[in-house]
This record gives sequence, C-alpha cells and structure tokens, in this order.
Amino acid sequence: MTATEYASEWRSAGACLSADPDLFYPISTNGLARSQVAEARAVCERCAVRRQCLDFALRTGETHGIWGGTTPEERRRARRRKQPGKLFTMPDLARVS
Ligand code: SF4
Repeated sequence: MTATEYASEWRSAGACLSADPDLFYPISTNGLARSQVAEARAVCERCAVRRQCLDFALRTGETHGIWGGTTPEERRRARRRKQPGKLFTMPDLARVS
C-alpha cells in the first residue's frame, strides 16, 4: 500500500475538514502563532483518526504543519529517537502526542 492510499483511508474522517486550514499551517510555533497551534491541537484532540494522522506524518517525514496534534519540532524529536530500521511503535506515538 502506498502512503497516498493509506492516507486516503482515514483523511475523510479528519476533524480538520470542517476547520480553518490555516490553523494547521502556522508560520511558526512561537509568539502569536502559539494560539493558532493551540486551536489546531484542540481540533486534533477530538479527532477520531488522530493516531493514523500522526503515524502517517511520522512515516512520511512531514516537516510542516500540525499533524495528529503535533508540531514539526515534536515530530523531528520523535524521528531522532526512533531506532534505525524499526517502524514507529504505539509507545513512540504516545510519547509524541
Ligand atoms: S489529527 Fe488533526 S490534523 Fe490529523 S486529521 Fe485529525 S484533525 Fe486533522
């Protein structure tokens, strides 16, 4: 299964589909953008496909935007902790989110 096929399975259930898309792509995670990130995280908190979204972002190396309630920096830290050649595990995902 390709990453695109995998994403198409869960994306249509994302809570962000009815939210302002700009919330999920703040220009930074500091300063005034913090409230934007907090609003996006609040949407992700109630999303039924949060795990799938975060898993997808980690596996595909998404470097921009809020995915699964995480910032790009949080995902970079998770990728650095991951053991080479291993898939992300549920505990890995729990530590990021
Ligand atoms: S977890 Fe957040 S970014 Fe991902 S699909 Fe759900 S609402 Fe959208």
